Amino acid sequence: MNHKNVILLGPPASGKGTQAKKLAEQLGVPCLGTGQLLRAEIEKGSAVGKEAKGFIDSGRYVPDETILKMVGEWLNENKDGWIMDGFPRTLPQAEELQKLAPDAKVIVLDVPRENLEQRIIKRRECTSCGATVAVTDLSQTRCRECGADSLVSRTDDALESFKVRYENYEELTIPLYDYYSGLGPVEHVDGTQAPAKVYEEVTNAVTMGTSGN
Ligand code: ADP
Repeated sequence: MNHKNVILLGPPASGKGTQAKKLAEQLGVPCLGTGQLLRAEIEKGSAVGKEAKGFIDSGRYVPDETILKMVGEWLNENKDGWIMDGFPRTLPQAEELQKLAPDAKVIVLDVPRENLEQRIIKRRECTSCGATVAVTDLSQTRCRECGADSLVSRTDDALESFKVRYENYEELTIPLYDYYSGLGPVEHVDGTQAPAKVYEEVTNAVTMGTSGN
């Protein structure tokens, strides 16, 4: 695969994190999940974490200035390719990234809103190994990845905050699709398929149109 910089776009809970992690492993590049990075800052109790917590819990986007500072530092240390999961999410973020990395491949995971709500209800994170999993039984707390009794719902996965997140996505992130289409080809993948099938199509999309890059 020729592309070393890949931007995964899509609505909340569209599977970006799962796909980004696999792709990063396969390409041998790091993956930046801004949501994950922000949750780690909250855990640490850092200044960024304290600022971000109120926004995240209520489903709102964290201000561009904070995100751009955090991502800028990360990009400075990761110059040899990356997968972006959850960044950029606004036009100012996309414009800033474009200046730093004009040759990134953009892939959109399409998942309709009805499916997303179902995923949010079933999504759990393991506080022991960090995995994100879907449960079949809503009361399940045992992680199938590491076996620990440590599955919890994310605080921003309450349906109320999901609604705010989705509104933010429609208002602030959907305009990025036109922005990127104006710059070059954008690949769309049907994110409602099984994760392995989505991954197959994502990897195909990464290799598509790579001549000259
Ligand atoms: P999801 O994809 O389900 O929305 P994430 O873990 O990617 O979950 O993000 C969780 C939250 O972190 C977002 O709802 C938002 O508040 C904040 N966040 C993450 N990335 C960004 C970003 N690039 N710009 C603004 N806020 C962000």
